[in-house]
Amino acid sequence: MLSFWEKKNFIHYDYIVIGAGITGLSTACSLKEKNPKASVLVLERGLLPTGASTKNAGFACIGSLSEKISDLELLGESKFLQLIEDRLKGLAMLRKRLGDDNINYQNNGGFELELKRKPIENGQMEKLNEVLKSIFSENVFYAFPNLVETFGFNSEMVSNIIINPIESQIDSGLMMQTLWNYAGILQIKIITGADVLNVEESNNEVEVSVRTLSDESLNFYAQKIAVCTNAFANKLFPQLDITPGRGQILCTSPIADLKIKGTFNFEEGYYYFRNFENRIIFGGGRNTDFETETTTDFLINESIQHQLEFYLEEMILPGKKYTIEHRWTGVMGFGKNKFPIVEKISDRIAVGARLNGMGIVLGSKVADDLSTMLLM
Ligand SMILES: Cc1cc2nc3c(=O)[nH]c(=O)nc-3n(C[C@H](O)[C@H](O)[C@H](O)COP(=O)(O)OP(=O)(O)OC[C@H]3O[C@@H](n4cnc5c(N)ncnc54)[C@H](O)[C@@H]3O)c2cc1C
Repeated sequence: MLSFWEKKNFIHYDYIVIGAGITGLSTACSLKEKNPKASVLVLERGLLPTGASTKNAGFACIGSLSEKISDLELLGESKFLQLIEDRLKGLAMLRKRLGDDNINYQNNGGFELELKRKPIENGQMEKLNEVLKSIFSENVFYAFPNLVETFGFNSEMVSNIIINPIESQIDSGLMMQTLWNYAGILQIKIITGADVLNVEESNNEVEVSVRTLSDESLNFYAQKIAVCTNAFANKLFPQLDITPGRGQILCTSPIADLKIKGTFNFEEGYYYFRNFENRIIFGGGRNTDFETETTTDFLINESIQHQLEFYLEEMILPGKKYTIEHRWTGVMGFGKNKFPIVEKISDRIAVGARLNGMGIVLGSKVADDLSTMLLM
């Protein structure tokens, strides 16, 4: 039972944002930056953000050669270029809002391992560089076979390294903490442990029903709401084309004399690794078991984790001494369309979701577009 004080101060808002991942928090911040007088509440079902934003690898920005070749085939040239531009814009917005030091932004370059058993077709790199000339004045991708030895990879398995000097890395945990703190500075209220079960629009407001940690239900009210629950968005709106995709990750102990620095990937970006100081964070392998990984639960998939360990031991860190200190998973939102959903469901409800595994770079742009839509 709510008190008079609670009803007066905690229940009614101009805007409610559902989900405290990068998209939700950025949407709340954009709403406040554009309309400082508005009251904004973020509702998050976990005690911490519990989706992808604090679980990812922190790669930014455009991706690897083989991933881009596949995107170009899928999207055609103009949509392909638009998605690259969106990624660049989103990353620039994130850096501007939070500051490079506060997200540990490092431009160490991106490197694709060309595997002996899966060579990249001749001419593909040149073709892609040509297409990308309309955005970048120089070539983006270069081949550097000597780097196989420099990084200490197994040359029986890796034949070549393709560099992309644009690629950068961030500390995703630090970024989310900074974003959360920034939301506090803007006087955005964030309530965690608030699982939104239902939203209902009436003539003059939206009712948002929440199951609390004590299993009671509580209703909040807003003029308008933003749904930023990514992989989980079709639990509230089943009509949305969103399919969950779980990602497996592991992280090693510190490694002596680690030569690997930057973001790395292979097999069209399905496997990805990076250094964090002198550790390796390595994830992926969803493509080996799509069926099991199409889920919103956060369980470890033993066979994918073994596959990651195999690549680490045999190909990436042969002869190095390390242990696996951390394992975790996160859930992404995918769809038939590679672009995020930024759309109005009704006059007072809009969705920003389906970040397609690119939310670190796209989240701030989606938030900017979504907040503009809600403010109209
Ligand atoms: C393993 C892995 C590696 C990745 N690597 C990269 C990378 O290197 N670079 C990159 O750009 N992207 C990467 N991504 C993708 C990126 O993390 C996501 O695209 C991005 O975090 C999505 O942000 P979001 O805020 O839209 O969703 P989320 O971070 O999933 O946030 C949604 C939030 O909504 C909450 N929620 C859900 N349902 C409800 C409800 N009913 N009520 C209240 N709250 C609810 C969830 O708890 C969650 O906190 C990776 C993702 C994973 C899992």
